[in-house]
Amino acid sequence: MVSTLSRRSFLGCACCAPMAASLSLGTGALAPAHAAGKKTDLTADQALQILKEGNRRFVADTPDQAAVTQIKDPKLGHERRLEIAEGQTPFAVLVSCSDSRVPPELLFGRGLGELFIIRNAGNTVDTTALGSIEYAVAQLGVPLVLVMGHERCGAVDAALTVVERNASFPGSIGQMIEPIVPAALQAKSAAPANAVRDDVLDIAVRENVKRVVTRLRSASDPILMDPLKAGKLKIVGARYDLDDGSVDFFMEG
Ligand SMILES: [Zn+2]
Repeated sequence: MVSTLSRRSFLGCACCAPMAASLSLGTGALAPAHAAGKKTDLTADQALQILKEGNRRFVADTPDQAAVTQIKDPKLGHERRLEIAEGQTPFAVLVSCSDSRVPPELLFGRGLGELFIIRNAGNTVDTTALGSIEYAVAQLGVPLVLVMGHERCGAVDAALTVVERNASFPGSIGQMIEPIVPAALQAKSAAPANAVRDDVLDIAVRENVKRVVTRLRSASDPILMDPLKAGKLKIVGARYDLDDGSVDFFMEG
C-alpha cells in the first residue's frame, strides 16, 4: 500500500532509484559514494565548532591560523574537485539569505563539497527549501542545519514596511516576503516604544530565524524528527553582522 509507505522508505526504495538519481543535484546520477552510504563522520557539535572556528578566522582575517586551531583549510582546487566528483559528503546545511554580502562558504572559511546551501531573500523555508533540507539530512547524512539571518536584511525590511505602512511590492516579491510578516509583527510589538527602526529591524531578523528554526524542529515528518530525537541532528539559528563579520549563534539549544 503506497499510503502506508513513509517518506523515508519512499526515498530509500530501490525501485525509486531513478528518482533518487535525479535528486543528486548536479552530478547527473546517484553517485556510488551515496549508494554505499558514505556520509560525514562529524557530529552536529563538531560541525558547529568548525563553522564557529571558520567564522572566527574570517573575522580575524587570518586564514593561516589553521595549523594552530587544527581546523583544516578550506578544501579547494582541482584535487578536491576530483575527490568529490563522484559523491558529496557535506557536514552542514545552510539556510541563508541571497544577499551578496552573505556568502556562507566565505563567512565560514569552507570549500568545495562542505556546505549544502539553500539561499533565498529572507532565508525562509518553503516546500522547495524544506525538501532540500530533508534531502540533505536523509540522503546525505548531514548532522547540522544552520538557519542564518543577517543585519539589515532587505527582505525582512520589506516585511516590516508591509506591517508599518501596508506597503505592497510588485511581481512575486510580496508573496515571497509574506512568510516574514509574522516576524515583523512580533518585532513591532516586542520592541520598546522608543526603539529606532534599525533595532526593530534587527529584532525582526532574529524573530524570523527563530520562527524558521522552531518550525523545522517541530516538523512532524520523521525525516527530520527521527534524527532530531536521536540526537543525530541539530537545527540552530544565527545572525550575521555585516559590520564586523561575526556570526552570533543565538539559538543553539
Ligand atoms: Zn537578506
